[in-house]
Amino acid sequence: MNTLTDRNAAWREELRSAIPAKERAAIPRAVMPMLAPDVRVTNNDEVNLGLTPLQAVTEATRCLDCADPGCVQGCPVSIDIPSFVKNVQRGRIDAAAAVLARSSALPAVCGRVCPQERQCESKCIYNKMKKAPVAIGYLERFAADTARETGAQPTPERAAPNGIKVAVVGSGPAGLSFAGDMARRGFDVTVFEALHEIGGVLKYGIPEFRLPNCVVDAELQRLIAMGVRFEKDTVVGKTLSYDDLLNEGFRGVFVASGAGLPRFMGIPGENLNGVLSSNEYLTRINLMGAGRGAMTPVEKGRRVMVVGGGNTAMDSVRTARRMGAEEAFVVYRRGSEEMPARVEEIRHAEEEGVTFLTLHNPLEYIGDENGHVRAVRLQKMRLGEPDASGRRSPEPIEGAVTEMAVDQVIVSVGVSPNPLIPDCIDGLEVTRRGTLVVDENLHTSIPTIYAGGDIVRGGATVILAMGDGRHAAASMAAALT
Ligand SMILES: Cc1cc2nc3c(=O)[nH]c(=O)nc-3n(C[C@H](O)[C@H](O)[C@H](O)COP(=O)(O)OP(=O)(O)OC[C@H]3O[C@@H](n4cnc5c(N)ncnc54)[C@H](O)[C@@H]3O)c2cc1C
Repeated sequence: MNTLTDRNAAWREELRSAIPAKERAAIPRAVMPMLAPDVRVTNNDEVNLGLTPLQAVTEATRCLDCADPGCVQGCPVSIDIPSFVKNVQRGRIDAAAAVLARSSALPAVCGRVCPQERQCESKCIYNKMKKAPVAIGYLERFAADTARETGAQPTPERAAPNGIKVAVVGSGPAGLSFAGDMARRGFDVTVFEALHEIGGVLKYGIPEFRLPNCVVDAELQRLIAMGVRFEKDTVVGKTLSYDDLLNEGFRGVFVASGAGLPRFMGIPGENLNGVLSSNEYLTRINLMGAGRGAMTPVEKGRRVMVVGGGNTAMDSVRTARRMGAEEAFVVYRRGSEEMPARVEEIRHAEEEGVTFLTLHNPLEYIGDENGHVRAVRLQKMRLGEPDASGRRSPEPIEGAVTEMAVDQVIVSVGVSPNPLIPDCIDGLEVTRRGTLVVDENLHTSIPTIYAGGDIVRGGATVILAMGDGRHAAASMAAALT
């Protein structure tokens, strides 16, 4: 029994015989402790408070130790979920955190923002038994937070330095995951970030009431301890060119520049004052401190409408409530079943007094005499046949148009990649959507350049971006050594 996996297998066997499956299956799923809705709309504090140790051990005990655990297949970075969960059950949080660290550079982040209900938890055996799945996300957060707070956070082992320099463009989850894996393999890694903060969407997009910055910063410290260097305020394509990177001796470049270009609907009135993108709104408040009393100007609407049904829309509307909106609406052209946002975020928004106008679509914004938005014309919709995405497509109901008073509109209908990188590197192939073309090894059309995350997928998820980072690291490492 030399390896951790062998030992885990033995522990699992011990635990399996200790508590019969029937008794474990009878335990109800843990309920996440959280701030009360009337308290949380008055501040930016994290809403979910994390499981207590007793809750965590009890929840971990629910795991039935499937012979062929579907949860691992449902995880884009293949975390050994049964092993970390069983370590939580045994109270060995250091060992649980070590298991997580083997596959994920950001476990405390993923435990908070990953859509587990569509990934690992959707594959849990309990779903087949019509019971709530093991709360894998809550347990991941518990293990990562407890390890950090008790000083038991593992620094992954690092191979001897190989002297090969590699560059990363962008410090979001794709870039960070790549950087961690390459540093572990002994590469000399530098991450170039355009903004003055490291973390990509984790810092400028997702609000602190869902993901506190200190949690992201603590995960970054681990990468710094592994020798990863970060160069902030450096826009590759402006401050530094791709040729500059080659001249500085970087032998491989991983492009993880995300999809930060907001889309609009192209309808009349979108240029009125008071109509802005989620990206701008959240960046002003989260990254530039407008929500924390900084000088950054931001309008504080009283009757705010957010257009869209994704996580970004939920973050925007919940932020608007915290910025003082008396009435906040989400307008979405499909039904609530089709909303891409996490179920928990939709529930939290409802609890915080947000009104959902599903099956409605803006047609036009109407301005006042000062050129500021004062109302929106909304088209009522119904659901037709499923479209290419498998969701039923919305169709307008003829003549069913209403007008609603609003004084701020936040448009959250998707994002596209920023064209700077594709435009400044000759020969870098892009798709019609502006995403980078890569092969199965995440290799672009240029031999030294790999890419992953939202710049390849369009707006996707944290864990898919991290999975790309890991995959690209394995491909580039194999090619360079
Ligand atoms: C508001 C919001 C909420 C979200 N909520 C969730 C959620 O709950 N769960 C979830 O799984 N996903 C969520 N997502 C999606 C998720 O955050 C993204 O899919 C993920 O961050 C993509 O990671 P990335 O590393 O590819 O890009 P990003 O996180 O976008 O990072 C890219 C980084 O590259 C930098 N950059 C760009 N161009 C350059 C350049 N030329 N030179 C140097 N640096 C550059 C950018 O400044 C940025 O920091 C959310 C997205 C948003 C916007």
